[in-house]
Amino acid sequence: MSRIRPLPDHLVNQIAAGEVVERPASALKELLENSLDAGATTLSVDLAEGGSKLIRVTDDGAGIARDELSLALSRHATSKIASLEDLHRVRTLGFRGEGLASIASVSQLLLSSREAGSSQAWRVEADNGSIHEAEPASLSAGTSVEVRDLYFNVPARRKFLKTPATEYAHCEDAFKRIALSRPDLALTLTHNGKVQWRLKAETASERMRAVLGNEFADTMLTIEAQAASLRLTGFAGSPTVSRASRDAQFVFVNGRFVRDKVVLHAVREAYRDVLHLDRQPLYVLFIELDPEAVDVNVHPTKTEVRFRESQAIHRFLFHALNKALAETRAGAAVSAEA
Ligand code: ADP
Ligand code: MG
Repeated sequence: MSRIRPLPDHLVNQIAAGEVVERPASALKELLENSLDAGATTLSVDLAEGGSKLIRVTDDGAGIARDELSLALSRHATSKIASLEDLHRVRTLGFRGEGLASIASVSQLLLSSREAGSSQAWRVEADNGSIHEAEPASLSAGTSVEVRDLYFNVPARRKFLKTPATEYAHCEDAFKRIALSRPDLALTLTHNGKVQWRLKAETASERMRAVLGNEFADTMLTIEAQAASLRLTGFAGSPTVSRASRDAQFVFVNGRFVRDKVVLHAVREAYRDVLHLDRQPLYVLFIELDPEAVDVNVHPTKTEVRFRESQAIHRFLFHALNKALAETRAGAAVSAEA
């Protein structure tokens, strides 16, 4: 056997990238979340070839100081938490400090930023493990991250990317999740030079209509329920509007898109009496609870969570939705009698 040696940083980042950056859409998600954490209100996304050639996210958030630009690209460097206590009550979408470092290790990454109140923008470039000196850049405010040729230096991984159309569809999903969760944001998505989405800041129900269509928006039920520190808001599709696939089911826990078995099961059960089992309901639900009651540090991509009291969550969701859906049935019965 060989001797034990520490791995070089660049390789450590590339190994982490295997988990955090599965495909262009995962890199896009990391960049969008960083913009949200920076307090951005306007976001624009440019993609080329489904994101495999280019992903550029430009925001009007707080920006990064010149002397912190290279730190932003270093592993385990974050402005979001500083202690284990912070981790337990984290309210930002990021906190692991590995998103940019991972992406930079498997792409050509250019980070430009102008810190609020600063007279000049600066940029740094990451090039196969080394970070160049900061250079002046032109940017009126906020941050722009440009990711080119994802996995150019990991051919085995690059081979697993699907067609640009498929990768684009995944990127669009990541974009829609952000769009649904934050109707107050103005968002643009461009692919191969063509504008695909242009959303202005609007109300939640207007945003539902813009992203999920008229059929859903015309019939959706507004959900609002509260029990102690648990809060559920959002929109549940009428049973008359269903799909064969689950592609219009969105659950956000404290603003973060998650796929959670407990939640999915509770919703499924609530629809059980009103929707045939092989049909899928549409819904966009926001669960809010004390950050200490949910662990988001389960997996690097953070789409998995663990609720401290999962049974209480299940009961609460089931009852809130079941009640709303039962009222539509009662309403339908009344109008049928009339
Ligand atoms: P994390 O989001 O977990 O902190 P990242 O590697 O994604 O880790 O980002 C590292 C740091 O770079 C962030 O903590 C933040 O301070 C800064 N940063 C990244 N993207 C932006 C952005 N769009 N605007 C402002 N600061 C950013
Ligand atoms: Mg991040």
